[in-house]
Amino acid sequence: MVEVPPPPTIESFYKYIAEGKLMGVKCKRCGRIMVPPKPLCENCMAKDLEWIQLKGEGEIDSFTIIHVPPAPFSSIAPYAVAVVRLDEGPKIPGIVKGVTQPHQLKIGMRVRMVFEQTPSMQTWPQWPRYYFQLV
Ligand SMILES: [Zn+2]
Repeated sequence: MVEVPPPPTIESFYKYIAEGKLMGVKCKRCGRIMVPPKPLCENCMAKDLEWIQLKGEGEIDSFTIIHVPPAPFSSIAPYAVAVVRLDEGPKIPGIVKGVTQPHQLKIGMRVRMVFEQTPSMQTWPQWPRYYFQLV
């Protein structure tokens, strides 16, 4: 039986995250990598995409400290949300674990993605399933 890859959707992306994998899609025509995936290449509009696994490492591109979070995250505020430029190119936002003050972060700091240990599928989809950790 041929294994059919999951569709390039945000749901598939979070299913992979729940498995501890950071997956994106790569355009077979121009090579653009998109995380989270999109159904069309954002660069050349091709639909010929393939899933690729990313290392989950990169550097901080920008960040902000959240003091008044949405309800699900109120217990962990204040916390830092950074946009991380992955080594493979795409940018992805995420909470930086253990950071509560802006002086703890600098643009260009190296981070690594870590995954929640016991994701509860009952409340899926629920953002985030992953964090970034300073390395
Ligand atoms: Zn393309």
